[in-house]
Amino acid sequence: MQPKLSFDIADLKLLATHSSFERGSDYYDQGRVKKVISKRNVFEGKVKGTSTYDVRLVVDGHALDFTCNCTYQMGGICKHCVAMGLAILDGEYEIVAEESNTNDSSANEEIIQSHTYNFEEIFYICKDELKVQFLHQFLLQNPHFQSDFIQYIDRRAKEKRE
Ligand SMILES: [Zn+2]
Repeated sequence: MQPKLSFDIADLKLLATHSSFERGSDYYDQGRVKKVISKRNVFEGKVKGTSTYDVRLVVDGHALDFTCNCTYQMGGICKHCVAMGLAILDGEYEIVAEESNTNDSSANEEIIQSHTYNFEEIFYICKDELKVQFLHQFLLQNPHFQSDFIQYIDRRAKEKRE
């Protein structure tokens, strides 16, 4: 059971043009919306179109702030945003707990436990903080990679100076 959302289909329709709403609706029906995750009022998901697009929605009451990395510029939100919005309205998203402190890895575990995610998706979704944490632990546990890391940083530093 998902918590009650503060927006509805009318809000989505208002943001989209008639045609982007229709096309987004088709996309949703075709199952093009890949697993959506929700952290408090932020939703993130992927929608498969010509390629796979990253859609993000920040909800503030009835105010919906959609972003998508497609090139749509015809006014209103794109069909990918509509499709994800519809999936969310149907409760098709997974709530991910927000990490309250750096020692709490439960949110990350939650993501990893859902096997529908592949590496790229998890890597894209998780916070930089967690990536750094993982990297640090990994390097401490695998000292032979430490020199690779140092070489990489060294090389980048040199590139910057040049
Ligand atoms: Zn889009």
